[in-house]
Amino acid sequence: MGDIKTKASYDELYSDSQHYHVNTGAETIHAKRIPGFFRNIKWFTMSLWSLFFLSPYLQWNHHQAILFDIPARKFYLFGATIWPQDVWMLSLVLILLAMTLFGVTAVAGRVFCGYFCFQTVWTDVFTWIEDKVEGNAMQRRKLDRAAWSVEKLQKKVIKHSAWLLIAVLTGVTFTAYFTEASQLWYDVFHLSAPLIAWIVIGMFIAGTYVFAGFMREQVCFWLCPYARIQSVMIDKDTIIPTYDLERGEPRGKVSGASVNATTGDCIDCKMCVGVCPTGVDIREGLSEGCITCGMCIDACDSIMVKVNKPIGLIRYASQKQMEGIVLPPLWKRPRVLVYSLIFLLALSGIVYGLSHISPVELTVVHERQPLFTRMSDGSIQNKYTIKAVNKMEQDLPMTLRIVVDDPAKVMLVEHDGKVVLKAEKLVPFAVFLRGAHDGTRLENQPVTFVLEGLGEYEGLVIRYDSVFVSPK
Ligand code: SF4
Ligand code: SF4
Repeated sequence: MGDIKTKASYDELYSDSQHYHVNTGAETIHAKRIPGFFRNIKWFTMSLWSLFFLSPYLQWNHHQAILFDIPARKFYLFGATIWPQDVWMLSLVLILLAMTLFGVTAVAGRVFCGYFCFQTVWTDVFTWIEDKVEGNAMQRRKLDRAAWSVEKLQKKVIKHSAWLLIAVLTGVTFTAYFTEASQLWYDVFHLSAPLIAWIVIGMFIAGTYVFAGFMREQVCFWLCPYARIQSVMIDKDTIIPTYDLERGEPRGKVSGASVNATTGDCIDCKMCVGVCPTGVDIREGLSEGCITCGMCIDACDSIMVKVNKPIGLIRYASQKQMEGIVLPPLWKRPRVLVYSLIFLLALSGIVYGLSHISPVELTVVHERQPLFTRMSDGSIQNKYTIKAVNKMEQDLPMTLRIVVDDPAKVMLVEHDGKVVLKAEKLVPFAVFLRGAHDGTRLENQPVTFVLEGLGEYEGLVIRYDSVFVSPK
């Protein structure tokens, strides 16, 4: 075996910037594609993106199951309709997603990047097409260097057409989350979609085609904010693809059918580099370019099997594990605990919000100019504007009444107490309260406006606290 590597050796590899190297865009990385355990996991996680393409066509209660209706300022999510008043829940959803990402990163590094991020997933699909049309990595490099010919032109046209088809599907599908999906397809085919739809579709076609087809890993290196901040979320307990220095070094070539017995297990075949979609040499230690996809693990394992060595020369492991230190349980890791706590708080807020979404949102605005009016008979009148949003898809018959300490002194006037709230509408209306005119001095009094459902909506009660203002 090679030299025994010490903790200092790992520290050096994990921190020494001289080992850091990423392709800065000067070359196109043509990674080999090989089968393996992590490749299969990646196919599975990538397949979950098919839901993105299918979801706009799901129907729920006669409308699109998931629809961000921006003109109507409503968000349909299956049975729930989220109105602007409920948008705080969307903020909690974003916090929840961020905490999930941070927590997963603290535990297992950039697995999101490697297995699920739309940039790496679309890039993987694009390079898969490239592989099918132009051949394996070596053939692709050769084709790129070759002079233009009919064959080269044919291959390039087929590849770019397939890329553009996926880009168009991506653009239209994304836009379909904001408008009626089948109508959008009809409008696209008849070139009659609204301008804003064309702009969004065009942006997504261009973004998908350029980012996944040409920029690829450069997006991860230079444009992705997550790649910039992920280093503060990982520590020596984080499990990432790691090269076993102790086992692997010093590297040695295979001589004939046997491996040189004086070297480590790494035969310097560079297969791990050849399959890396970002061109990283994992043997150089932790790199900003590594997206934790595990392709190098599959590659190295296949080589180890061939040279009759145990697999796992490159494996998912933390720096501490590589130094022989046992990982602490998750609940003893402060950053995992903090992320989990925030996650649970956000989740509780969402569950509470969803279970308490009221079908009616009531606001009562007290008229300010004037605060009150003295009537000819000496009584005091206050004006209020009732703003009741009926979030349901049916009209809602209700009664309106007020609750005051002394009903004889303040009462609802000029209104019969019957209200029909139009489906999915906010139709404001004015009401007047009048204070007693028997000479009694009135003080400002708390008033509660109460809307109560009628018929099949009996039991639905919405309250809003306000005040009846009188002259001092
Ligand atoms: S694939 Fe394994 S054996 Fe080959 S160079 Fe990489 S680490 Fe060494
Ligand atoms: S070094 Fe390995 S895990 Fe990291 S991006 Fe390359 S192939 Fe994926």
